[in-house]
Amino acid sequence: MEELLQQINNYKQEIEAFKATDTKAVEEFRIKYLGTKGIVKSIMSEMKNVAPELKKEAGQLLNDFKQFTEAKFEEIKNSITDTEHQKSDLDLTLPGDILPVGSRHPIELIKNRMVSIFQRLGFAVAEGPEIEDDWHNFGALNLPEHHPARDMQDTFYIQQNPDWVLRTHTSNVQIREMEKGKLPIRLIMPGRVYRNETVSARSHCFFHQIEGLYIDENVSFADLKQTLYFFVKEMYGKDVKVRFRPSYFPFTEPSAEMDISCFICGGEGCNICKKTGWVEILGCGMVHPNVLSNCNIDPNKYTGFAFGMGIERPAMMKYGINDIRMFSENDVRFLRQFTSAI
Ligand SMILES: [Zn+2]
Repeated sequence: MEELLQQINNYKQEIEAFKATDTKAVEEFRIKYLGTKGIVKSIMSEMKNVAPELKKEAGQLLNDFKQFTEAKFEEIKNSITDTEHQKSDLDLTLPGDILPVGSRHPIELIKNRMVSIFQRLGFAVAEGPEIEDDWHNFGALNLPEHHPARDMQDTFYIQQNPDWVLRTHTSNVQIREMEKGKLPIRLIMPGRVYRNETVSARSHCFFHQIEGLYIDENVSFADLKQTLYFFVKEMYGKDVKVRFRPSYFPFTEPSAEMDISCFICGGEGCNICKKTGWVEILGCGMVHPNVLSNCNIDPNKYTGFAFGMGIERPAMMKYGINDIRMFSENDVRFLRQFTSAI
């Protein structure tokens, strides 16, 4: 018993004097004193050698020693963790870095709005290639070989014979969808198109269009008008008036251009509507029977309508943008103005 007491006192002094400088030393302490083959365990096993009348006293002594060692371990562990935190550059109390949040491009905002209106009428979205062959961009659309639109003055040619062009409209997607032969078709086709134009505040060599195509049995011009009436009311408001003017496109017959009463001046006449009170927003018509035949659709059984409009001009009007070039200059001072418009 005396011997045990002496042993414990020696260990206590040793433990008392122990100083840990890093986590490795703390772990060494744990293994040496509190591990499964550690000193505390081995001292505890001495109990069996103690005389029965002294067991109670010895048990008390050993428990005290165990608690003393455990308390020391907690103490050195905490002191090391504290110093290591102080040593680290990491300050957990600092606020987080703010990530810059982008905004949608104004062209996308207008496009998404147009798409969602037509989607409510059951139109699905279709897309196609921006580099196109002559057939899908011109030929199938009933444009004769010497049509001025094919002129190199107006179209970017990637190569000639065979001709590959940057598509001049999204109508190539209409052809590709009709060629698939799955009827009826009720699609809208948003996308980027290219024209060989001089870049100015009013026109650019690339811009965006959205076209629509509906082909089924018994589709009439009345369906076309109702579809576009709905679109205009949703897009520009219930009070906007609509007028159709006869027009000519090689791919539709009859063809029309659609104007809406100027939503800036309400029809009084202003700079936007060039004092006329009307703003032209799209071209439309019944799909030409030749176009249907070109895509292996029987024009005696099926009819359809198509329409197409630009996206830049409505965006310029809505947001008061007076230079089309700003859309593609990637100036963050311009783009940041649409942050709240997500
Ligand atoms: Zn006006």
